Amino acid sequence: MYRTHTCGELRPAHAGQTVTVSGWVNRRRDHGGVVFFDLRDRAGLVQITINPDLPKEMLELVASVRFEWVLQIEGLVHNRPTGNENPNMATGEIEIVAKNVTVLNPAKILPFMVSSDADLPDENTRLKYRYLDLRRERLTKNMVLRHKVIKFMRDYLDKQGFIEIETPIMFKATPEGARDYLVPSRIYPGQFYALPQSPQQLKQLLMVAGMDKYFQIARCFRDEDLRGDRQPEFTQLDLEMSYVHRDDVLALVEGLFTEMLPAVAPHKKVLSSPWPKFSYKEVMEKYGSDKPDLRFGMELVDVSDVFAKSEFKVFQSTLESGGVIKCVVAPKSAEMSRKELDGLTEVAKTFGAKGMPYMAITAEGMKGGIAKFVTEEEFAALKSKTGAGAGDLIVFATDSRAVVNKTLGGLRLWFREKLDLADKSMMAFAWVVDFPFFAWNEEEQKWESEHHPFTMPKMEDLPKFDTNPGEVYSDAYDMVCNGYETASGSIRIHRRDIQMKMFQMLGLSDEDIQAKFGHMLEAFEYGAPPHGGMAPGIDRLVMLLADEPNIREVIAFPKNQNGRDVMADAPSEVEPKQLKELHIKFN
Ligand code: ASP
Repeated sequence: MYRTHTCGELRPAHAGQTVTVSGWVNRRRDHGGVVFFDLRDRAGLVQITINPDLPKEMLELVASVRFEWVLQIEGLVHNRPTGNENPNMATGEIEIVAKNVTVLNPAKILPFMVSSDADLPDENTRLKYRYLDLRRERLTKNMVLRHKVIKFMRDYLDKQGFIEIETPIMFKATPEGARDYLVPSRIYPGQFYALPQSPQQLKQLLMVAGMDKYFQIARCFRDEDLRGDRQPEFTQLDLEMSYVHRDDVLALVEGLFTEMLPAVAPHKKVLSSPWPKFSYKEVMEKYGSDKPDLRFGMELVDVSDVFAKSEFKVFQSTLESGGVIKCVVAPKSAEMSRKELDGLTEVAKTFGAKGMPYMAITAEGMKGGIAKFVTEEEFAALKSKTGAGAGDLIVFATDSRAVVNKTLGGLRLWFREKLDLADKSMMAFAWVVDFPFFAWNEEEQKWESEHHPFTMPKMEDLPKFDTNPGEVYSDAYDMVCNGYETASGSIRIHRRDIQMKMFQMLGLSDEDIQAKFGHMLEAFEYGAPPHGGMAPGIDRLVMLLADEPNIREVIAFPKNQNGRDVMADAPSEVEPKQLKELHIKFN
């Protein structure tokens, strides 16, 4: 028997028992004849005390033991002498006085320390030795948290009558707006499977199949440019329900997370319950983003009317050309230096703004920037409309509505970082609903689906399909949290005619539609029930719950920021024989 207990579970109640534990040497201290080890397993640490009265061979063995060796210790659990307890350790009130020490496996010197996060090596080194990196308490905790989140989801949905069904990884292109990963077929030369960008089509077909309420902890594959919160493959809680309207789906998901939070992350607070619900238009106007961070204010305010008769040229010409003037009020920023403001102007330009008018408010009144162009009357109206006061900085954007919202939305987040405006313990969940159905792709000069092509348009907007696609709204919804899109979903099209129309709008020829989605259209002819669903992203949620800066910290074996697995070194070349079997030649 390797162990009777885990290291982390021992408490004063075990005092007097002879136990066996196994684990890694986390730390070692020599104290004039007595040697202390902190032995570590997934459950935690325990102090092992080696007294000098043990047999000589055993003491010699102990002398050779180094960090991260795997030991088995048999010993007696003692309460630590008063004054020697360690309140920072869950097992800090006891120690194991060793009777027997066995080395199960020695270890080379590790490429980095795992017993502390000070001196964290660069990420590629951590990922190359991920099996060591995961030994860190921080990452072990993240894995346990992830497990708890997924377990909670499974249990909750089971109670709500959902069943978990696996869907294939080797399938056909299921578009979510990214590039597909392809798998060449050996048996059918020149033909490919696609890895699903999500199980979207399959879960809808499960509804046609009568499965009623489905979920899956699903892996999704999207070949897109990588960013901080992106991975080539990621995991989502994919779910789908029959005979539901939008609010049924939202209630289910809101209930799941509302109950989950106290169970898995009791240190997190929820901003408001029930979660606020905004239309897409509303969040764009108020926060300049479709995934607003609601943990702080600094809402965008339209002050076009305040400056309707402005003397200031930039304001005048904006209004004349049909644009808008909006602003945000940055608290305690009236004293920002000229240099900082110039830097901020450059930030504003990255969002499409041509400049960044601003003015400060001091106890004496307006100061700096455009203050000299603002009348006392306008100043009074501005203050009453924005609530700004002494000590604040007002930052304006003047352009088309879209550019203005994007700019101020971006600056709002810039101030969030600078002024530390967001409460880290808060989970600010909210719903965003009523998305536009189409998005105009300027580059390719064509309409694209804003969500995915299986989303149901608002029935009342159907007549506008041909005449004014930009005015068609959909029954799509996003769940957002702390500035991230944490889930998206929709009520689906379940009628062949509407689905056909949608594909045609996207510019697909009838042959293409048949070749790519014939199976969906056919399924809809055999009595498809109305249905809808959504898919919360598990990596992002666990990242937020664990206060991690990116999703790689909550994935056991992530790719690095360049999409490589640096541990196994993948992607990598394959044998010529394999290529031949797959009928592949490189050009
Ligand atoms: N398939 C969507 C996605 O992966 C989610 C959904 O609509 O349920 O984003």
